Amino acid sequence: MVPRIYTPGGIMGWIIFWIGGAILVAVVASNKGRSGLGWFFLSLILSPLLTLIGVAVMSRVEPAEASKTCPRCAETVKLAAAVCKHCGFEFSGAPQQASYKGIPYMVLANGQVTVTIQGKTTTWPNLAAFHDHVDYKRKLNV
Ligand SMILES: [Zn+2]
Repeated sequence: MVPRIYTPGGIMGWIIFWIGGAILVAVVASNKGRSGLGWFFLSLILSPLLTLIGVAVMSRVEPAEASKTCPRCAETVKLAAAVCKHCGFEFSGAPQQASYKGIPYMVLANGQVTVTIQGKTTTWPNLAAFHDHVDYKRKLNV
């Protein structure tokens, strides 16, 4: 009796099993954030069963999250964070509040400085322009 694997149908069955297994490995690999095509060929060369076990035990590769470094405490925080989770530093993406010579002002995301006094808002193109304005007024004692 000829073993089934040596019959034409048996070989076709093995080829379909082999390629189908390789595709399955590729799908599992890409779901884990790895190269699906690379694992597909590796699976064809080695064995779908072996590589499927290999892929199954592999840990998931998380895509590297965009991050930035806090200028105050030098810790790494998420890029989207408006406030540092380590020290509470507010990043320039959100309006930053501060005061200069007793005048509270806000720095906008585009670098503009706004000061609101008694409901009236004045805007300067940048912090230096605002400082010059305050210094000039102080000099004149206005
Ligand atoms: Zn910080």
